[in-house]
Amino acid sequence: MREFEKNIRKVEPYVPGEQPQNKVIKLNTNENPYPPSPRVTKALEEMDTDRLRLYPDPACAALTEALADFYHVKPEQVFVGVGSDDVLSMCFLTFFNSEKPILFPDITYSFYKVWANLYRIPYECQKLNGDFRIVKEDYAKENGGVIFPNPNAPTGIYEELDMVEEIVRRNQASVVIVDEAYVDFAGRSAMELIDKYENLIVVQTFSKARSMAGMRIGYAVGHPRLISYLNDAKYSFNSYTMNQAALVCGVEAVKDREYFEEGLHKIITTREWAKVRLGELGFRYLDSSANFIFAAHPKYDARELFEALKENGIYVRYWGSERIEQYLRITVGTREEMEALFEFLEKYVGN
Ligand code: PMP
Repeated sequence: MREFEKNIRKVEPYVPGEQPQNKVIKLNTNENPYPPSPRVTKALEEMDTDRLRLYPDPACAALTEALADFYHVKPEQVFVGVGSDDVLSMCFLTFFNSEKPILFPDITYSFYKVWANLYRIPYECQKLNGDFRIVKEDYAKENGGVIFPNPNAPTGIYEELDMVEEIVRRNQASVVIVDEAYVDFAGRSAMELIDKYENLIVVQTFSKARSMAGMRIGYAVGHPRLISYLNDAKYSFNSYTMNQAALVCGVEAVKDREYFEEGLHKIITTREWAKVRLGELGFRYLDSSANFIFAAHPKYDARELFEALKENGIYVRYWGSERIEQYLRITVGTREEMEALFEFLEKYVGN
């Protein structure tokens, strides 16, 4: 090791899913298979490029106002960032600053560990039970903060709002972050509890239900005091996180509620059909409420199946980590993409 390397901040980075640039059936990073709202296309076509000379609005007012309108909250309760990864990372930096460990599930979004290590935040993972569910009592101990996704990733399991509320209620001495990247495919959002609990932050994204992973927009909703702390951290880091195109397109996407709801309906219908097909082929799967399904086959090794799928141009996600070695996470694509997947699986498990 070189002398200067001793002073370098070393981190074990998050490993994103592969983003192949050739044409494949891409069921590996939970993107939406449908295009964003036509209002987004129109906004891009009509965009005033002269505006790009100027810095964007650091307060992102148009987008925070559109989101506030959509969720019936005040603009001071909304914070936006470059995808929910950026928003979550800001939340870790801002809200998790205690000597006590933060708590999150052992099987969950693997970025949480990375941010905790990056920001030197102590953490303690809480084991999901045998059915891969969160055990709420595990979050009743002293802590420096709590974070969990609902639905959880990569399991897809949604916990009812009563349970989420209990975790928030029991932890009023710390900030509780509910990562709702997939909630639109699931059920009630913790957004309903925002005015009741000052320690709650709900984080969502445009990457999944709004088909805009490439535009990078995420947001947090919470008490104005928490949002103001988040803004202080953002302005101490990079005031202009959101680019002009994202701000303009984000507003258009939020305003198209009808398209958003139609898209959800299509994915949920395909998901439920895909579960039945998986069952028919002998897969075990968790009862996902997200836009992906976590599945294992008792007779076939997950890594081998993952490789075989890839060789045939079908990308799914595989981790091989403890407790989930035999599971694949399959994003719900279009009906046609899923039919191609099942055509392959039928041959594979039929052999
Ligand atoms: N939270 C969870 C649970 C996720 O699975 C993802 C997507 N990988 C994110 C947050 C981040 O998504 P984005 O940055 O695209 O908003």
